[in-house]
Amino acid sequence: MPVLAISRRLISTSLMLVCQLTLICFLSAAGASASNDVKDISYWSFPDYTRVVVTLSDSPEFTRNRLSGPDRIYFDIKNSRITNEVKTTLPVGNGMLKSVRAGQFNDSTVRVVLDLEKVKDYKVMVLEDPMRMIVDIYGAKTARPDQAAAVPKKRIVIDPGHGGHDPGAVGPNKLYEKDVVLDIALKLRKILGEDPNIEVFLTRDRDVFIPLDQRTAIANGKNADLFVSVHANASPRRAAKGIETYFLNWTNDEEALKVAARENHISLKKMKRMNDERDVLEIIKGDLLRDNKRDESLKLANHIQLSMVKKLNSEYDDIVDLGVKQALFYVLLGAKMSSVLVEVSFISNPVEEKLLSKETYRGELARSIASGIASYVTSAPPSQPATGTRKTLAARH
Ligand SMILES: [Zn+2]
Repeated sequence: MPVLAISRRLISTSLMLVCQLTLICFLSAAGASASNDVKDISYWSFPDYTRVVVTLSDSPEFTRNRLSGPDRIYFDIKNSRITNEVKTTLPVGNGMLKSVRAGQFNDSTVRVVLDLEKVKDYKVMVLEDPMRMIVDIYGAKTARPDQAAAVPKKRIVIDPGHGGHDPGAVGPNKLYEKDVVLDIALKLRKILGEDPNIEVFLTRDRDVFIPLDQRTAIANGKNADLFVSVHANASPRRAAKGIETYFLNWTNDEEALKVAARENHISLKKMKRMNDERDVLEIIKGDLLRDNKRDESLKLANHIQLSMVKKLNSEYDDIVDLGVKQALFYVLLGAKMSSVLVEVSFISNPVEEKLLSKETYRGELARSIASGIASYVTSAPPSQPATGTRKTLAARH
């Protein structure tokens, strides 16, 4: 996997964190400026795309600026200090970024500088738990060899959720979500791989932990056409069951917010706050709507959901269709292609946990997701957006 994660993760003890948070609360209450620690800077590099992640101890307040001669972007993070563990110069040299530099600019400001080479566009977002600033850098797009040859080859990234120290949801009989979804993803790769026009990549093919940001980075870095994240659902209500497929969008649906909070590893309270955040809304409006990604993701979700429900209903009794839904999943944020998150069944439901433990059921799930993807790929050209501005473009395809 062409992933370069080059700096160390700082592990704080919970005690230190509590002390830190207490101190921050105390200082804030006293009206003094709290110190936001810059704890880690790392990047993932791909041919046309780089993701830089700055991990902090608190929500960052920052300004940004782009300067020429030489071309660079810098971020001034207010009320912050850089910790000793941070590597302050990261040479990148991948054609887009020369390097990433960071330093204590003055007593209360950390400056992070991205020295640019050839950059088409960049985007910044802030996510929580851990608190981090994510900068996505896009290079000037080069045509893939398969595109040049005009072969209808689709490139698909399948993302089995969780892994390693993160088991995901755990069933009443101790079945782990991470094991179930990995097996489904491996089966899916085998099925899809039989089509010579489809290239399949997995974000993980073994029991290893991959951060959510890195999964999206892999899909963007592979220049994928489709991104499918595979998960198993869970609910405190044991009776909850069924299949649902999500695409990225804001939502007011309480159940959808709960699912996204669990998959994002954040509290429901934080999830609701994030749902209203300006940065996140900007990404959705600017990115998803501009490239028609939301409509295409919705379409992909519909094809997969329909295929799963239809196929499983013919083999099993009582398959519940919970439909296509929308919510803000970290793993889908910033993905440049049609992307969905599938919740294959409820691992928290004893009956569905038993089904999920079976080779045959996992095989049916993989086959039905694969045929949903295939029917999406071979379906009619992209639907026209509701606004008239792109009509001519859409009609040309
Ligand atoms: Zn999950």
